[in-house]
Amino acid sequence: MRTERQLKDEDGRLAALRRYDVLDTPPEEPFDRLTELVRKVLSVPIAAVSLIDEKRQWFKSISGLEACEMSRDLSFCAHAIQRREPMVVPDATLDLRFAKNPMVTGEPFVRSYLGIPLETPDGYNLGALCAIDFKPRDFSPNEIAILSSFAKLVLNELELRQIANTDGLTGAMTRRKWMEACESEFERSLRYGAPASLILFDIDHFKRINDTHGHPAGDEVLRAVVQRCAETLRDADSLGRVGGEEFAILLPSTDAVGALNFAERLRRQIADTPITVNGVALSVTASFGVSSRTTAIKDVDAWVSVADAMLYQAKAKGRNRCEAKAEATVSMC
Ligand code: GH3
Ligand code: MG
Ligand code: MG
Repeated sequence: MRTERQLKDEDGRLAALRRYDVLDTPPEEPFDRLTELVRKVLSVPIAAVSLIDEKRQWFKSISGLEACEMSRDLSFCAHAIQRREPMVVPDATLDLRFAKNPMVTGEPFVRSYLGIPLETPDGYNLGALCAIDFKPRDFSPNEIAILSSFAKLVLNELELRQIANTDGLTGAMTRRKWMEACESEFERSLRYGAPASLILFDIDHFKRINDTHGHPAGDEVLRAVVQRCAETLRDADSLGRVGGEEFAILLPSTDAVGALNFAERLRRQIADTPITVNGVALSVTASFGVSSRTTAIKDVDAWVSVADAMLYQAKAKGRNRCEAKAEATVSMC
């Protein structure tokens, strides 16, 4: 429920921001189009979609200024998120909160500001959509209404982005989003010569669970398996649902031994404790294929293929086990 409470709940706000999984992502056209439009429609030199992190203001899109982030202490939007209403600053030099702000006393010499909080459906302000001018000005009720409508569009865009990236049943990443995460990690690991691993796993004889207990029970099992993974994963790890009952985990900065240990821990976590669905305890197991990046692996598809081949081997060798490419062939550049 949207109450005043969320305005004071900074931990909840930061958690909401993390759920949207947008910080430090590359520019995306829908947001850039919106800031361009704001500039034109309100005749301002700068418009931005600004998100307020713990310590910084990060721009998902900014039009009219070369910047990607700045300290939260300097941010006008950090003030805008403390309220439900639009924040208007007609002349920053006359406003005690901002008169000494280096953005006002120096480049880019901000004079006026209009910011609309970007409020989530559960009442948290993630940041603000803002319009900035180099001269003092008032913003008319009509202009405030226009920017408020644009702010709603920004939120819609963030929601759509989230839906497209999240599997509806389990909350894991979609296959596409997970592959994107692999692409960036592959590049990063190549650039720094750092280890990186991935795991594919597939629930054993899942069809039997559906056939015996019904499809909804199967769905519950999928959710419970993801829940168990979530308990084991680190923040940096990414879990994706890449097929019906097939999942994938990206383990950044993790070598072959670490990844195999991780897979083994997860295998046991699933196999050792039955999953209770409608009061019935179901024994569930899964098979795991592990692949660590080596110099022989030239792209993400090849990286995933190795894990897939290992998973196939784990199935062929009797299921409920982990297989990794032979240690001898695992050599980091
Ligand atoms: P194996 O050990 O070889 O992996 O056997 P399996 O029975 O798990 O494999 P198979 O690929 O034959 O069956 C997977 C089943 O998963 C078939 C499909 O109906 C079911 N499935 C796929 N998506 C969903 C889903 O979202 N919910 C449920 N309940 N079942 C699903
Ligand atoms: Mg299966
Ligand atoms: Mg399968």
